[in-house]
Amino acid sequence: MILRLLLLAFLCLNLYGVSNSDLLKRADTALKSGKKNTVFMAYNSYKNLYLKALIDGDTTLQKKALQGIVASGKKLHIDVGDYQKKLSKYQTHTVKPVIPPAKVVKPAVKPTNIKKKITMIRTHSITKAQWKGSELIITFSKKLDKNRVNYFKLEDAGKKNYRYIFDMHTSLLEKNYNLRKTPLKRVSLSQYKKNTVRLVIQSNTKLPLRFYYEGRKLVIKPGIHSNIHQNVALKPSPRHSKKTIVIDPGHGGKDSGAIGYQKRVYEKEVVFRISKELVAILRKKGHKVHLTRTRDRFVKLHKRTEYANKKQADIFISVHANAIPRSGKIHQAYGLETYFLSPANSKRAARVAAKENIRDMDSMNRFGKDSFLNFLNREKILASNKLAIDIQQGMLRMLRSHYAKVKDGGVRKGPFWVLVGAQMPAVLVEVGFVSNPMEAKRLANRTYQKRLAQGLAEGIERYFLKNP
Ligand SMILES: [Zn+2]
Repeated sequence: MILRLLLLAFLCLNLYGVSNSDLLKRADTALKSGKKNTVFMAYNSYKNLYLKALIDGDTTLQKKALQGIVASGKKLHIDVGDYQKKLSKYQTHTVKPVIPPAKVVKPAVKPTNIKKKITMIRTHSITKAQWKGSELIITFSKKLDKNRVNYFKLEDAGKKNYRYIFDMHTSLLEKNYNLRKTPLKRVSLSQYKKNTVRLVIQSNTKLPLRFYYEGRKLVIKPGIHSNIHQNVALKPSPRHSKKTIVIDPGHGGKDSGAIGYQKRVYEKEVVFRISKELVAILRKKGHKVHLTRTRDRFVKLHKRTEYANKKQADIFISVHANAIPRSGKIHQAYGLETYFLSPANSKRAARVAAKENIRDMDSMNRFGKDSFLNFLNREKILASNKLAIDIQQGMLRMLRSHYAKVKDGGVRKGPFWVLVGAQMPAVLVEVGFVSNPMEAKRLANRTYQKRLAQGLAEGIERYFLKNP
């Protein structure tokens, strides 16, 4: 037991090559820089550190990273409200902050300066918003920084409700803009929060919306033409088209993943066989399917998503099996779980993520700000969440029609590195616990593997039907 603890401590120290405290020091230095780009680098470093801290369960680092995110975010006028909320939870145990507030806001905030600060923020505003033909043009008082705009969409095909949302970190001088436009259901521009203006474009049909930045302008092309409704009405509602899917059998080669109750059951083998079955089923349905590994070999985590990006996959599914230490409650711990990427505070998600991440943490340094911005894409998190729900239900439905004691471990959020770089909706499936005697036996069984793959495939189909 002590040996294990020592080993763990050793791993924690060496996982990243560069120590967390060094990374934190670098970020702190960058934060103090007057240059916007450098501060932006600091902002991203703090976010990386925060995720690492969540994985490690290091609350001191979580707090320091959050303080950094808030301080740098404020400098960049990025809305860091959510992080501030999280930070306030840590504040109850007062520890001296890494960055004294005085250094963040120069000069130190005295009551007399508050007014000045507000007017400073107000100087960035929307001066005009109007339609020009089928383009909506938002004009700002100053050249637009892309960091100020967060675009995401909420699409609900079932309710025929499609919302395209732009959150802009600026202010609205005029209250009443009439932006109505047929055939759009609603177009609204409002001061959503202090320093955040929200534009919502709502439609009954899916829009091929595009937008670009042009100096002080944000040009939005919702893709509405006079015949858009006609087109949709005339089309015989087709089944969803054929998709490109990347299946990622976890681990491989020198990395065996979890080792089962009966020593013969290795995670890498079980997930590989299930993945192969899944590929066969999906190909039969006409989809283009690729595997990140086609034999028992080691593939680095970031290579797996890079591959999916290269293949321009519509979805990415990483297949894994769970385990708890032999000393744990092996009979109680079983069931299926599906994860999507999101920093999670739950201990359970952190534990599973740590288990899946540990083999390949050297790839961490490769995660630059780009992958991190991907990670923060709300639209993709939402889509991944939906995919996770359909997959989890697909597996449960299929297995429950054949077996007793199929446990729903739920759809969960987790900081999984294998999902970080993916440019498409991505989930990680834990198909069961190889440490549980009953489930290990099932997972090693060919028929069970086939049924599990069938359930996964049905979940995927369901997702594509709802999200064509
Ligand atoms: Zn795994």
